[in-house]
Amino acid sequence: MSQISITLPDGSIRTVPSGTTVLQVADGISPRLAKAALAGVVGGRMVDLATALDADASVRIVTGDDPDALGLIRHSTAHLLAAAVTNLFPSAQCGIGPATDEGFFYDFVVERPFAPEDLDRIEAKMRDLASQDLPYDRQMWTRDEAKAFFDQRGEPLKVQLIDEKTVGQATVSCYTIKDRDTFVDFCTGPHVPATSRLKAFKLLSTSNAYWKGNAQNQPMQRVYGTAFATEKLLKEHLVRLEEAKKRDHRKIGKDQKLFMFHPWAPGATFWLPKGTTIFNSLSGYMRGVLFPAGYVEVKAPIIFNKALWERSGHWAHYRDNMFLVESENEQMGLKAMNCPGHMLIFGSEVRSYKDLPLRLHEQTALHRNEASGTLSGLTRVRQFSQDDAHCFVMESQIGEEVERILRLIQQVYGDFGLTPEMKLSTRPAEFLGTVDTWDHAEAELKRALTAVGEPFTINDGDGAFYGPKIDFDVVDAIGRKWQCATIQLDYQLPERFDLKYVGADNAEHRPVVIHRAIFGSFERFMALLIEHYAGAWPLWLAPVQMVVLPIADRHIEWAQEVQQALSGAGLRVEIDERVEKIGYKIREAQLQKVPYMLVVGDREVEERTVAVRGRSAGDLGARPLADFLNAALDEVRKKSA
Ligand SMILES: [Zn+2]
Ligand SMILES: [Zn+2]
Repeated sequence: MSQISITLPDGSIRTVPSGTTVLQVADGISPRLAKAALAGVVGGRMVDLATALDADASVRIVTGDDPDALGLIRHSTAHLLAAAVTNLFPSAQCGIGPATDEGFFYDFVVERPFAPEDLDRIEAKMRDLASQDLPYDRQMWTRDEAKAFFDQRGEPLKVQLIDEKTVGQATVSCYTIKDRDTFVDFCTGPHVPATSRLKAFKLLSTSNAYWKGNAQNQPMQRVYGTAFATEKLLKEHLVRLEEAKKRDHRKIGKDQKLFMFHPWAPGATFWLPKGTTIFNSLSGYMRGVLFPAGYVEVKAPIIFNKALWERSGHWAHYRDNMFLVESENEQMGLKAMNCPGHMLIFGSEVRSYKDLPLRLHEQTALHRNEASGTLSGLTRVRQFSQDDAHCFVMESQIGEEVERILRLIQQVYGDFGLTPEMKLSTRPAEFLGTVDTWDHAEAELKRALTAVGEPFTINDGDGAFYGPKIDFDVVDAIGRKWQCATIQLDYQLPERFDLKYVGADNAEHRPVVIHRAIFGSFERFMALLIEHYAGAWPLWLAPVQMVVLPIADRHIEWAQEVQQALSGAGLRVEIDERVEKIGYKIREAQLQKVPYMLVVGDREVEERTVAVRGRSAGDLGARPLADFLNAALDEVRKKSA
């Protein structure tokens, strides 16, 4: 039998017979490692423990502590879920069941939606299957055999997946849990070796879904769950989820009367007075940041003739996501992004190199026709607005402009106590333009990222076909990541709109456009802030910054004077004149998380003071009105959290 060389992570080399499995390699290192092993990474690719090695390779054994184990465990648990569902609901058809950043899900076609009791039953069945220590067994079937099998099982979606995903392959891999009777899934793998290795999992919720996420397709039921390597990690995650639930922006938005939705306008927010106040603060804040940075604001139309969308390329590639309307036999489309309108503005006059960079900022509403089933709170909407801008630059200005944008992003996120994580996405396999242009642009972006001193990661090959980009996640108060800002270089749109500027050499040149947003969408950023602050808005954003609480009727006159003085200085002040006990009024203001409560009684009237209570600090003592006013204005200016 021929021998092969296995290189281990510590650099040592072992010679083993060809055909040795990954598990045997682990066992050769130590029986304990073999016991803990979940999978192997061979030549950089994760494989099942049962995989036989037939060539020299580097091998790493994956155990529960390995960062790569999480996806493996979660995906394997998704199979376990599907096995339990098909066992309990024999007519269920399986869709797909991937691991996600938070856990896993699996989509099913079922006769009726799952009820909460169903989840309990399914989870119990999963535990039963896990305790039976059933092996995940990889089998190679011919395409026809696999298709016939799933067809006969009444799983047309699997037949469709095999058709689509294995074109030109003679065989396809299918995984059984124990045997054909327990569960079979078409899957490339890998998985943990047996169901007993899945110890820490929990089903969380169900939702409506569609086959391939398309509302034209079959409705499905999605079951969400999560899984971890240990019970302890699972518990910590569930505590985090509880905390997240308390912070859910949909709940706080309702409690604080910030916004509402109505079935007659799916996915479009009604901003109520308090929500509008915050929205306007954010929008004004952003103007205050962008104008000194050299941006100018524009307002382009909301409805455009399809000619514009044809020119921009959206008609061919994005029409299904747009709201279309007709007028005088002309097809029109609601604006789904600001870029094409800004191209028209740039092209509307002769531009000189002296005009560049030209930075057009716009906050008007955008509409995208998202499937109604996917809409959720402020994070998945159909109508939204962005703190959008397009910076038109000369090729030589790319690096400096991107650096300016990065500094703005640092400044803005800093004001909200958020930390950005930056990711640079580079040239994909299919791209427009020349390798030289791409290399130059990527080098400039890296230089800018380094210049602002933030660590960044590189997603190789993840850029758009028309240019590299930088994406930003922000980490909120409970450690969750939200995708917000983007910086996207674009060589393509100026080409399509034939944009030019006259250079110092008196010749015409093509500008480059940088699409960028810092908040992203106002709606999504608002959701992030609500959950980040858990509804306890810092003073500068709080819709009601302070409430004056007269103890009795005879204190109302001074209370009104206090209110007028504060609101005259630009602060947002309410007064609670109801005939209620002061303790009750304080509790209510506290529940609404109003930053300051100003209690006014006999002594305060006499001394012309206010007794200040902080939302979290409690009793701060009596202070002359003017002192409190100045301190409050100072706190607003500093944007203290
Ligand atoms: Zn699988
Ligand atoms: Zn754009």
